[in-house]
Amino acid sequence: MNILLTGGTGYIGSLTCVGLIEAGEHPVILDNLGNSKPAVLERIAAVTGVRPAFVEGDVRDRACLDELLARHRIDAAIHFAGLKAVGESVRLPLPYYDNNVHGAQVLASALHAAGVRTIVFSSSATVYGDAKTMPISEQAPTQATNPYGRTKLMVEQMLEDLAAAEPDWSVTLLRYFNPVGGHPSGLLGEDPQGIPNNLMPYIAQVAVGRRERLTIFGDDYPTPDGTGVRDYIHVLDLADGHVAALRHRCGRAGVRVFNLGTGRGHSVLEVLRAFEAASGRRVPYVVAPRRAGDVASCWADPARAERELGWRAQRSIEQMCRDTWSWQLANPTGYPS
Ligand code: NAD
Ligand code: UDP
Repeated sequence: MNILLTGGTGYIGSLTCVGLIEAGEHPVILDNLGNSKPAVLERIAAVTGVRPAFVEGDVRDRACLDELLARHRIDAAIHFAGLKAVGESVRLPLPYYDNNVHGAQVLASALHAAGVRTIVFSSSATVYGDAKTMPISEQAPTQATNPYGRTKLMVEQMLEDLAAAEPDWSVTLLRYFNPVGGHPSGLLGEDPQGIPNNLMPYIAQVAVGRRERLTIFGDDYPTPDGTGVRDYIHVLDLADGHVAALRHRCGRAGVRVFNLGTGRGHSVLEVLRAFEAASGRRVPYVVAPRRAGDVASCWADPARAERELGWRAQRSIEQMCRDTWSWQLANPTGYPS
């Protein structure tokens, strides 16, 4: 299949691109390089032996999409492109609604006009808000607590409305838990610009000497050691989840929602210790007050994805730390410009 990957040079998109190539599919990447570098394409080629087709462009640019869709016989789209920083979305809501909501609307319209009826959307566990019971199943109530989360919910709802109006659409909503790690070769990984918002890249940058110490946001949560608990999932498992979802869902009409997580939670201190063991480096830390908007615990019930897609996360927290460290050590300042 020819698969359009919007945001395909980004963190999750690039590793999914590798997974798709290894599965014999033909990815076509559209990315505006707003949060990624062209060097990613060479790295994908180094890992797979195939340089994916690439169009530099914006998902909100209808003419660009129409041209891409006319040139490549696209069978399905995976829509990764978007902005993803919760804190930034509170300060700058309009670019988030523009990129994430308007972007998805333009993409769906262009796919529609080109006769493409299969879309897989990168959603997030953030749509569950402060869930009352763990693990979180897909039936749990949704409730966004910040503009980023609201954009994810709005796109989910827009695609549901589309599938309700036009029953030949196949819409798959993938709710990611906490993707971490990189390719074991150290060639592909997460390359945050500026100060990392997320735990794993922050720890990795402390371990490699780019930052002095980790700040742990709160040790007074109702969790076993008082620090926040999350469902960290290896990005290669996530990539496999996309391949499984695409294969299962292509041509199957309607909307289906899947959690992509491991079903296991790890605390901040557990991740820190696992990273120290994987890297052989000490990671100094201080404890600070809770970060606004954080929940105590969040982990997935991944049973539906296993039952319906035959997919299940395989990789341990040790491997997530090992592969993050290989990437960080080989690329201390990220991808070359
Ligand atoms: P990323 O920033 O590494 O990748 C996103 C890519 O999209 C970047 O390469 C960026 O240049 C591109 N992009 C952004 N806006 C664009 C636009 N308007 N047109 C074309 N390209 C554009 O982020 P990621 O971590 O790979 O996340 C991918 C998707 O998964 C996002 O939609 C994100 O919200 C979602 N998600 C990520 C996480 C996570 O923790 N990383 C968790 C849940 C959901
Ligand atoms: N966290 C932390 N210090 C950091 C970044 C994150 O203590 O510098 C904690 C955060 O409070 C949460 C966990 O690590 O309990 C995961 O945070 P992340 O931002 O990676 O993911 P999310 O909050 O989106 O689940």
